[in-house]
Amino acid sequence: MPDCLFCQIVAGKIPANVVYEDEHLLAFHDIAPKADTHLLVIPKRHIVNLNDLSDADASLMSHLMLSLPAIARTQNLTGFRTITNTGKEGGQEVFHMHFHILGGDQLPGF
Ligand code: C5P
Repeated sequence: MPDCLFCQIVAGKIPANVVYEDEHLLAFHDIAPKADTHLLVIPKRHIVNLNDLSDADASLMSHLMLSLPAIARTQNLTGFRTITNTGKEGGQEVFHMHFHILGGDQLPGF
């Protein structure tokens, strides 16, 4: 998606502070951190949000979820919060699916 910000980060057209990359995923520091450590984990393929997923994405989503702890550990996080915002009403601002990893300090309970 040429006008998608995160697709442009995947393509290397917009710089990002990348902490993890594999064939399917990219993780980088959020540009406006809401916690001491704030990462975003995205699929390289353009997926809008959870509403955009189908059964064909089961293996990708499994890989993404199972990769979150290792990605968090790149920043020495053992405890962390994971959030994904779905749709405008869910607070989503960038419409390329991403999982926030927040940590590095004591987060308040929900
Ligand atoms: O879940 P939501 O769509 O609101 O989150 C988008 C996130 O993308 C924000 O936390 C914002 O700071 C981050 N962002 C970024 N780099 C950009 C633009 C937005 O890390 N160039």
